[in-house]
Amino acid sequence: MDADIKGHKNAGWDDFAGVYGPRRQAATVGKNARLAPDYVALHEFGHAVDDFDGITYSRNSPTSAALRDAHARLFPKLRTYIQQGEPGSDRGASELWADGFAAYYMGGKANVAANYDQEFADMMQQMLDAVAANAREEGF
Ligand SMILES: [Zn+2]
Repeated sequence: MDADIKGHKNAGWDDFAGVYGPRRQAATVGKNARLAPDYVALHEFGHAVDDFDGITYSRNSPTSAALRDAHARLFPKLRTYIQQGEPGSDRGASELWADGFAAYYMGGKANVAANYDQEFADMMQQMLDAVAANAREEGF
């Protein structure tokens, strides 16, 4: 999930499996994530990386356009939560990135290919390589 908790009336952090809040730049894993907290943590961390690097949050970035295209292409096979409305939607692209991020760190590129397809796995690899190259340029 990618949400500002304030936008959810009468909901607390524990009402969600996981939340990333861009305003606070904080990710959390809630009680509802009992079955796969590691996966949820990686998904939310993916939203944080997106926010910091402008992967989908920055609508004019090439990665945002590529992810919206991938979301439209993969739409029929996506889980309802990752679909987030229409094929190629901004929210859908954001959820696809976060889910691809989690899939990659749970089982590598092969896991992304198994969950989505080889084309998306190749794309995630390139984007994650770019994120790492960015961090190295910044001295990490
Ligand atoms: Zn999410």
